[in-house]
Formats: sequence, structure tokens, C-alpha cells
Amino acid sequence: MRTLFSLFILLVSSALTAQQYDIVLEGGRVMDPETGLDAVRNVGIRDGKIASISDQPLSGRRVIHVSGLVVAPGFIDLHQHGQELASQRVKAFDGVTTALEMEIGVPDVRQFLKDMDRHALIHYGTTASHVAARSLVFGAPLNSKADPENGLRGILPKAGPATDRPATPEQIERIKQRLRDEIDAGALGIGMGIQYTPGATRLEVIDMFRLAAEQKLPVYTHMRSFGRSEPGSAIEATEEVIGAAAISGAALHIVHINSTCLRDTLECISLVAGARARGLDVTTEAYPYIAGMTAVNSALFNPGWREKLGIDYGGLVIPNTGEHLTKDRFEELHKSSEEQDVLVFANTQEMIDATIPNPLIMIASDGAQGHPRNAGTYSRVLAQYVREKKTLTLMEALRKMTLMPAQMLERSTPEARRKGRIQEGADADIVVFDPQTISDRSTFEKPMEPSIGVRELLVGGTLVIDDGKMVEGVSPGRAVLGPGKGAAKSN
Ligand SMILES: [Zn+2]
Repeated sequence: MRTLFSLFILLVSSALTAQQYDIVLEGGRVMDPETGLDAVRNVGIRDGKIASISDQPLSGRRVIHVSGLVVAPGFIDLHQHGQELASQRVKAFDGVTTALEMEIGVPDVRQFLKDMDRHALIHYGTTASHVAARSLVFGAPLNSKADPENGLRGILPKAGPATDRPATPEQIERIKQRLRDEIDAGALGIGMGIQYTPGATRLEVIDMFRLAAEQKLPVYTHMRSFGRSEPGSAIEATEEVIGAAAISGAALHIVHINSTCLRDTLECISLVAGARARGLDVTTEAYPYIAGMTAVNSALFNPGWREKLGIDYGGLVIPNTGEHLTKDRFEELHKSSEEQDVLVFANTQEMIDATIPNPLIMIASDGAQGHPRNAGTYSRVLAQYVREKKTLTLMEALRKMTLMPAQMLERSTPEARRKGRIQEGADADIVVFDPQTISDRSTFEKPMEPSIGVRELLVGGTLVIDDGKMVEGVSPGRAVLGPGKGAAKSN
């Protein structure tokens, strides 16, 4: 009788444990940059969360053997313009589980959240766009013919009065009101592309930082200028936004410090370090490519750009066709109201190689179709700086891709405390990759080639990549929302 009873208990308990987890990742090298855990563990996932991390066997409805592979938090990209499915697919193959439009922000937060709802492969979110709010107030609509397949994102205005003229105090009030509405809809901060709105005075910039501080949200910014000529150097542009952060108390995130500061990138990083040492909340990011990409009819190409960038017309290249611009072709495209992106070859490999390993640098892609950074940023850092040049340890690289951006997001939402970590209770946003083979495949000629080496990718506990292949018919991506009153309704 006792034997039978024990057998019964054994059967019941094994039946229970067999159902204990939805998915178990078994025997992988689990790496968590916050706790420093770097050991072979089994990870049990239940209801979209990491429920157990154990050196004991775990059973689940699906057990995936991942020995020899790294199990890390899914990468968090704070700077992703391409939010359409084709970009989300290549982001997934690059290990990204959250990709946010923080630099400029989308033109209409409510519309964006509605369009993405239940259609996203990976998590998404946005800042409130100062650039769009300003265009709206000046009565100049943004480039509307967005064509994501050609890198065109419809987030930047054509150069003109709306970008180049100072705003009146009344217009500044209306810009602020629009931004308050966008924050109310769930925006994660204020996105500013100051170089795209050169008419914005120093005071307008400070006013936007004050609004961010009032809302207890950060400012993400593409700074006012690049180059060394004064006035208007990259150093001055960095001083401007650090000054605005100091004056207002708003947190500041400087986007792509590599492509704004160019030859002076290390000096710009030292300004960030100095501000942080004085207690300011200032962070920054970079991507591992020598070229940028942006709209050729934007105010970034107002007169003086060649001197500032230190390049000539031929340094601008049309994605996909590879056409190098001439003076005539540039003038035709700059005047056009049709948006056309160009690759901007203005940096050196030496500067990128010195920037990426810097401990203050988060990895963020600035991705959109047309530039290989969309598909390859994260794998490229792991392949080139961890495996080949060995200027980063694997754990340091992961910290730049997971924990640091998650901590940045914590300024906007407490939800972010459950992201960027492999810990019990964290969201099951997980990448499983082969550290020996992970590599980017995208190039300037073939910018949408997916990376290789990601074996499994889980977004909120749902497999998006399984055994190296895309799982079709799943849309587990959810909005990451700011504290706006309308935010809860949007999800
Ligand atoms: Zn930018």
C-alpha cells in the first residue's frame, strides 16, 4: 500500500513538474550583466517571465538544448527608426527584442501605437517628437511619402521656414502643448533633432528640456552640429545640451555621438564623463559603422555641411544604387520635396574602433532600411570587438546592449526594471546565440542581409526565432509606454 502511495505521489509530482514551465532553455551559458552571473544554467520560462534559473534539471512542455550557446537578455535598441515588419525581422536575427524610436520620435504617438498594436514581432515605443511638433505648429507637414523599403521614415521635415526660422514665444507654447499631448499618449521622453531644426534658438532648446524635467522624462537628442569650425562645432553642440540638462534637471541621452562628433568623438565622450562626474544624468550611444544616413532634403544639409563634415558631394551615396552624388545632383535632391536618404561617409574606422569599447558607450543602431546598421549592428559588435579585436569582453558587450539601455529606460518606466536582465521575475526577452559564429552579413551593397548566429529569440516568452529560423505567424511585440495618462488605454 505504502509503495503504491509513493508511486502515486511520484507520478503526480512528475506530472506537475512536467508542466511546470512553458519552455526550458537547457544547459546554456547564462550571462547576466547586472549580477555578473556567467555559468551553465537551466532557464525555465512561464507566462512570459523567467520563472527559474537553476543548476538543477527543469522540465517543461518544450525543452530546448542550448549547450555551447550563450543565453543573454535580448538586446534593447534605443535608436531604431525602421518600425515596419521587414526591419523588425532583421532586428530579431540580430538579437534585438526591443527597438525604440527615441532619437526623433514618431510624428503621432497615438497613431503609431494603434498601427503597431498586435502586429509587432518585437517590442516598440517612442519619444514625443519636437521636430514633428515644430513642423505642425509652423504649418509645414513632414515628408509624408515615407517608403520604409528605401529607408524613408517620414519623420524629418524638408529644410525650409519651419526648420530654419526661430519660433515666437506663442509658437513655443504650442510646441510644448503638442509635446504634452504626445507624452500623455504614452511617449517615453522628448526626442529632439536639433540639427534638423536649426531655427530653434538656445532658449527654445532649454524650454523643451524644462518641459521634460517637469514631466520627469529624459530628452534624447541628435545635437545641433558636427565639425570643428567655431562657432558651431560638435564640442559647442555637446556643451549646449549638457548645459540644458544642467539648467533644467532633465536627464539627457546624446544619440550617435560617433556620427555627430566624428574626429572629436573621444573628446565629446570626455565631456559626457565630466558632466556625469559633476552629478548630471547624461548618457550616450554609438553604432559600429563609418557612414551615417539621413534625408538629403533636410536642414542637416543646409549650406556649410561640406566644411563641417569635411567631405565633398561624392561622400554622399544613394543606398541600394550606390550612386555618388555630384554638386548638381545634390542640389536637385536637396531642393526636392521628395524625401531621399543618402549614406554619409564621414568617419574613420580608427575612430569607431576607439569609440565602441568605451565604457560610457551603449550600442544603438540608428537603423532603417538602406543602411547595414539596421540589420547588423549587434552581431557586428560581438564579431568584431569581442571575437576578433578582443577590445571588449563578452560581458561588457552584453552590458552595452542590454543592462545600460534598460537602465536608461527606467527613467521613463518602471517596467524597464524587468528588461535587460536574465533574472527570475524578469521578462522572458531572451537571445540564445553562438559566440563562435555570430556575425553581421549586411553590407552597404546588401543592407538587409540578416545576421547569422542567433539560434533562439524569445520575445515575452514567445519564440520568434527557433533553431535559427523565423517562426511565422507570431506577433508578441508589445508597446513600452511612458507614464502618460492615456498610455494604459493604448495597450
Ligand atoms: Zn541622428
